[in-house]
Amino acid sequence: MALDLVILPCLSDNYTYLIHNTATGATAVVDVPDAAPILDALKTRGWQLTDVLLTHHHWDHIDGLPALLEGLPTRPAIWGAAADAHRLPPLDHALTEGDTPEICGERVQIIDMSGHTVGHIAFHFPASHFLFSGDSLMVMGCGRLFEGTPAQMWASLCKTDALPGKTLLFSGHEYTASNIRFALSLEPDNPQLIFEEQRVKDLLSEGCPSIPTTLARERKTNPFLRAPDPDMKAALGMPSAASVDVFTEIRARKDKF
Ligand code: ZN
Ligand code: FE
Repeated sequence: MALDLVILPCLSDNYTYLIHNTATGATAVVDVPDAAPILDALKTRGWQLTDVLLTHHHWDHIDGLPALLEGLPTRPAIWGAAADAHRLPPLDHALTEGDTPEICGERVQIIDMSGHTVGHIAFHFPASHFLFSGDSLMVMGCGRLFEGTPAQMWASLCKTDALPGKTLLFSGHEYTASNIRFALSLEPDNPQLIFEEQRVKDLLSEGCPSIPTTLARERKTNPFLRAPDPDMKAALGMPSAASVDVFTEIRARKDKF
């Protein structure tokens, strides 16, 4: 069984995603920046929304929810982190790391990805190889540390080591072009990065999203995931530093970039 996936650009640079099970008709949305594009996409396809998955509490991921609920004929189930329940819209299902709920007919792994916020979660669909990472792991980047420590974000990102390279990464924003510029400032000679720069430029110039990418590609190009790599450590002049310290340095440089 395969799930259909629709990428919907929202607001200035957010993404929301529809996941649809063609056999059962179950349909989920990941984050709700804005109701209109979601309602339009559901109407065009004749899909009924059954589930809303929330990665974290920031306004650009939840503010569209009241208008979305108003526009729907039936109320979907709302899923989000138990740790964030006090600042998310009312949840029907409060999730913690290691939970494996069935969503759209597929067993989903809940991964705590704290760092950008504390209580941020990712939704991993192992059978479809989808990872919805919100503002934690992003294409060739990672979210800014608003609440968590660098060590917390580093621990979160390391959890993706356990996922297959062919996993498709769907993150919350289209930040890829600026993320590549930063990555190239650290590793100007990284051949995969040079290749990605052109590939993403071509996609964006055609009005296509740079998303998804694969975890295999991220491991070669994402400067944050590359913190343990000897080439990255050398590029930063930190040849014998611990990976968490290299990550912390990369995050500090990105904040100033
Ligand atoms: Zn955010
Ligand atoms: Fe965001």
